[in-house]
Amino acid sequence: MTKSEAPANLEATKADGLGCHAGKAELRRAAAAAGNSEMLERYAEDYPLGPHDQPQSMCPAFGSLRVGLRMRRTATILSGSACCVYGLTFTSHFYGARRSVGYVPFNSESLVTGKLFEDIRDAVHEMADPEHYDTVVITNLCVPSASGVPLRLLPKQINGVRIVGIDVPGFGVPTHAEAKDVLAGAMLKYAREEVEAGPVQAPRGGRAELPTVTLLGEMFPGDPLAIGQLLEPLGLAAGTVVPTREWRELYSALDGAAVAAIHPFYTASIREFVAAGRPIVPSAPVGHDGTADWLDAIGKACGVDEGKVSAAKRALLPQIRKALADKPIRGRITLSGYEGSELLVARLLVESGADVLYVGTACPHTQWSEPDRLWLEERGIAVRYRASLEQDVGAVEAFQPDLAIGTTPVVQKAKQLAIPGLYFTNLISARPLMGVAGAGSLADVINNAIANKSRFDAMHAFFEGVGVGDKAGVWEDTPVVKPRVDLSKFAKPAKGGRTTPNIDEETV
Ligand code: SF4
Repeated sequence: MTKSEAPANLEATKADGLGCHAGKAELRRAAAAAGNSEMLERYAEDYPLGPHDQPQSMCPAFGSLRVGLRMRRTATILSGSACCVYGLTFTSHFYGARRSVGYVPFNSESLVTGKLFEDIRDAVHEMADPEHYDTVVITNLCVPSASGVPLRLLPKQINGVRIVGIDVPGFGVPTHAEAKDVLAGAMLKYAREEVEAGPVQAPRGGRAELPTVTLLGEMFPGDPLAIGQLLEPLGLAAGTVVPTREWRELYSALDGAAVAAIHPFYTASIREFVAAGRPIVPSAPVGHDGTADWLDAIGKACGVDEGKVSAAKRALLPQIRKALADKPIRGRITLSGYEGSELLVARLLVESGADVLYVGTACPHTQWSEPDRLWLEERGIAVRYRASLEQDVGAVEAFQPDLAIGTTPVVQKAKQLAIPGLYFTNLISARPLMGVAGAGSLADVINNAIANKSRFDAMHAFFEGVGVGDKAGVWEDTPVVKPRVDLSKFAKPAKGGRTTPNIDEETV
């Protein structure tokens, strides 16, 4: 690779440590100058911003990193600043990756001369051992993306091991949720082209007997089973969940009769399914109304006889209604998160009886959550896409709910206000939501949290004032030097007795 073939942007290296702190505009400018405008334009279309610019969340690359680390026989290599890689690997191991992450380091010289690209190519060749891997995923983080390190010039496969190069810059991909789509979409594109080129590997357990519905979005492990129960009377089966856990599952995902966009932000993945001729169904089977509409939509997409769909609804919907009624939720709730399932959870809470006032999601507005937005807004509930932390916190302050469900800083703010809070990611999205099993599954955790209000009041009263004003541990004013204690004012101790200061005269 010559210097001219592997262009790098000298501008990007002038500023020491160009990263997310350097400013998005600066990075975008550098990326455009390095010939990466096309990538930025595609991301701008796939992951639109606004009304808020960019939600405050973790480094987006964590999303794609996690998708790769969860796949069998898949090696992962990062190319980026050491501090970014340190943070990303730390977080991935915190979440139990149990897998090494490869790293190709660089310095200004290797970035400018194109040597970084050569180092990446060498690393990929070294890793591409078909004994151990089906795929090697190499990810450009912010600086290599801004500098135009051309991963597209890597070989498509080495010794039969697929090489998938992606750019996941924080200045182009707004959230870690959408970064999952960047990798899932790149893999689906690769797999689709393999399918078009000839026969591919069958799924591990063989092809399904019934037509399947591919499920798009990470979900609670029991949810695909619950969805399978809903599909069975329609003569369908729950198919592969995307992002997949191994390469060959990509073929069965593409082979589905339809794709359920359970999480609505998988724009690049949906593009591949559409290219494969698969119909896409929005929303998800949550609660009574959600399940009814979803079964209708799936039946239509898969050409199922209407009578069959109606019979399935007659059998399933009363069970869901009963499960919801058996586990009511009483209380006023605000809800926000960055998983993409926020609107679905809100629907379930409303059908359980909760008074949901606000739903904020870091994800963008797409047509695949449109039925959920309409359903919520018809009930007077404010829905905010690309919600900022300020909007989420503002909702908690304005509505003073009995429970705030949200991200860490939102829950922290709620607790400061003596409002019980639950973390969306750990405590809500890690529960079943779909079908009969999902109905009522949130009631216990939510009712228990709401019932904790008196404990929050007690803690609030106890800690009132701590961490604010002069108790914040930060001097906002110049400290005033107070007079020292005048020791002459202390009474002389009696023999063997204690000295008692004259409190009235003491100045401290
Ligand atoms: S890779 Fe992530 S942590 Fe590093 S500069 Fe980009 S957004 Fe920030």
